[in-house]
Amino acid sequence: SDHNLDYPISPAHMDWSSHYPAYVDPDTSKTNLSGARQLTKNVEVVDIGCGFGGLLVGLAPLLPDTLMVGMEIRTQVLEYLTSRIHALRAQQQNLKNKSANPAPTEASTESTTEAETGSDSKAPATDDDIGTTKIFPGNFENIAAIRSNTMKFLPNFFGRHQLSKIFICFPDPHFKARKHKARIISESLNAEYAYALRPGGLLYTITDVEEYHHWVLRHFLRQPEDATKGKGEGETGSDYKAEAVHAPGIKDMWERVSDADLAADPCVRVMQFETEESKKVTRNNGKKFVAVFRRLADPEWP
Ligand code: SAM
Repeated sequence: SDHNLDYPISPAHMDWSSHYPAYVDPDTSKTNLSGARQLTKNVEVVDIGCGFGGLLVGLAPLLPDTLMVGMEIRTQVLEYLTSRIHALRAQQQNLKNKSANPAPTEASTESTTEAETGSDSKAPATDDDIGTTKIFPGNFENIAAIRSNTMKFLPNFFGRHQLSKIFICFPDPHFKARKHKARIISESLNAEYAYALRPGGLLYTITDVEEYHHWVLRHFLRQPEDATKGKGEGETGSDYKAEAVHAPGIKDMWERVSDADLAADPCVRVMQFETEESKKVTRNNGKKFVAVFRRLADPEWP
């Protein structure tokens, strides 16, 4: 439950150093408000409800210089993903050591390299993991996972305009109407996503539940019925409708990304085919509904 969730009191108190050891700033005098060592760059990409981490592992070599984090509420899933990332990093280190110290000659076959004897080399790796035989850009040092309830604590981790991408892949559908409040897409959560994303940043969604896809569209984009809803509803005064149409709201912060732009974005393919849930849907010949939204510039206040 949330009682056991660890979260910083503000983004400036978050200790990222143990999550991205390769990115810790060598200048030991650079610390944040909780005294933790700073990184040389900020976390920029978030996978909300990352599950077993297929998206992060797929994106890691595509965006090798970008720090990405998965957030997951289930403890055991988080533990699995953390050891998966550590195993991938260790494999990359072993491969790099081997390429730096090529195969021993016959005379020295009994000697073993440090990498081969290191405890990390025994770390588990799943069969379908990439990274077992090849050195990948970024060496998976750029991905990490933390346990969090993103419905409550996202603004504790990320400052205004910090993020360039947010992914929400196959969110739990919570089919029943009385459970809809548990959905991780809602107008109030979308306001938090707009706060954390920089203008021009992208929010990616994918689901196999068509009804949820329409829910997503309704919660990001103005619908024709919005014009008559809200303040003016039931009123007869002619000004009310016009005011409802033009009053700026959270839905004015987003525009849907075109199919042509999506086709050119390699992250979309990873989202469609590399997450564990997307693989399950592919196996069952299910449909996948993609919607990506661009965060627009902050409105100018009169
Ligand atoms: N995104 C992954 C994928 O595509 O394979 C996992 C999809 S799974 C259906 C939804 C995940 O979201 C689960 O792992 C669940 O534990 C996680 N989740 C649900 N609510 C969450 C919340 N409030 N904060 C963080 N994770 C959450």
